[in-house]
Amino acid sequence: MLHFWEEPCISGKNGSGAVFFSGCALRCCFCQNESIANRNFGKEISPERLAEIFLNLQEQGANNVNLVTAGHVLPWVIPALESAKPKLHIPVIYNSGGYELAEILHELDGLVDVYLPDFKFFDSATAQNYAHAPDYPEIAEQALAEMLRQTGMPVLKDNLIQQGCIVRHLVMPGHRHESIALLQHLAGTFGTDTFLLSLMAQYTPVQNQAYPELNRRITKMEYQSVLKTAGKLGFLGYCQEKSSAKSEYTPDFHLQGL
Ligand code: SF4
Repeated sequence: MLHFWEEPCISGKNGSGAVFFSGCALRCCFCQNESIANRNFGKEISPERLAEIFLNLQEQGANNVNLVTAGHVLPWVIPALESAKPKLHIPVIYNSGGYELAEILHELDGLVDVYLPDFKFFDSATAQNYAHAPDYPEIAEQALAEMLRQTGMPVLKDNLIQQGCIVRHLVMPGHRHESIALLQHLAGTFGTDTFLLSLMAQYTPVQNQAYPELNRRITKMEYQSVLKTAGKLGFLGYCQEKSSAKSEYTPDFHLQGL
């Protein structure tokens, strides 16, 4: 689908060519794409068909091919990319929850132009609590190092990203101090000019009774305090209006035409 709700340098005017893969390596309790990520809503297709879909998106005028959560299906995605890449004149974006093994990402070297990882949790206990992945902070950091090694500094042309990394961080209710500690750590480890930061305010509760503390949106104060830290540290990138926290931002999926 052409997706118009990504960061401006990804969606642009024409939209991003998003391909959503069923399933996900993480099982975040607040997932907004639960039917796709955790219940495998989708349709089975071949690598050959997938390569055609990449090229069809280019023909439709997409600014890029945007692979959304493909880490667990790379044995099929890599041959599709190898087949389509020589015919693509738009960048390939790898959109990820950030929970990726660096040695597996190595297989994507030369096939992916832009990495778009989340960095969701900085505290191992939070990662355990909300995604059963206590090693998330460590794995996500190693993954980001490999992504940066492959792409180098962000390159934009006509306000559209061609190469580089954009790191997304979603500010969660009650976790602003963790967000601030994460930004300080990333700045100290990777610098603030090696990637663009996308600081997201769109957390939307899924009314999960097991986690009552997550059953609210973030406050303006929570978001502003993290945003202020990002600014003080010198990050460049994107922020959202607090009014972005609407469930309408959840993409509407259908399977027609595959
Ligand atoms: S990483 Fe993203 S898609 Fe996967 S479960 Fe978490 S929120 Fe959902």
